[in-house]
Amino acid sequence: MIIAANWKMNPDLETAGMLASRLAGISFGNVKRVLFAPHPYIIPMSIRLAQSDITLGGQDCHTAESGAHTGDVSALMLRDSGATMVLVGHSERRSDHGEDDALIMAKANAALAHNLDVMICVGETRNDREAGNAESVVLAQLQGSIPKAMDPARLIVAYEPVWAIGTGLVPSSEDIAAMHENISSWLSSAFPNRGDTHIPVLYGGSVKPGNAAEILSLPAVDGALVGGASLDADGFEAICAAA
Ligand code: 13P
Repeated sequence: MIIAANWKMNPDLETAGMLASRLAGISFGNVKRVLFAPHPYIIPMSIRLAQSDITLGGQDCHTAESGAHTGDVSALMLRDSGATMVLVGHSERRSDHGEDDALIMAKANAALAHNLDVMICVGETRNDREAGNAESVVLAQLQGSIPKAMDPARLIVAYEPVWAIGTGLVPSSEDIAAMHENISSWLSSAFPNRGDTHIPVLYGGSVKPGNAAEILSLPAVDGALVGGASLDADGFEAICAAA
């Protein structure tokens, strides 16, 4: 099980330090925890988490290693700052910055070139689901954004229905399980030579302490990517405990 916290553009530095120290002070056996921190906090959080089993990741990276890209952060910079993973293709990047699958694939390739593990986000909009296109949209995103030469040991997929993010809405258990089965079988055919390597598929979108146990018990759900509830130490620990 992997439980990942995506802090997004939150919280302030003092609160971030307190949260990270709380997380670092406790362990959850077989639950792998990941923290996706805002870029300016990668170094201070890497110091806070140094003695812990928590993986630190960035929330995005540029496709290039360096250059004239004001305001951007490269995979190399993340790696140098103490991150070992990066999130790419989050729906907020897709909508706020117009990122498409080809760009996300290029970012994933940049991350791989610098030995970062990559969590790639996919998910349908409400319109896609109402039109009956959720599965085809998600499979097209996988096809378009996961590099063909990806080392499967470095890949994690996060299924986040856009309409469930920050809304309190969650797909039915049947719909989550069905989508995860579809994603898993797509991954099996995309990586036929992966041997024993299991590619985890996480669910994200309004995961809370109250629904975590049910979601995490579903077949083919290997963990959760948590936004809002990860900003509360008690809530995040409760989700980890449910895993
Ligand atoms: P919420 O948990 O706030 O719905 O956010 C989910 C998410 O976008 C995590 O990446």
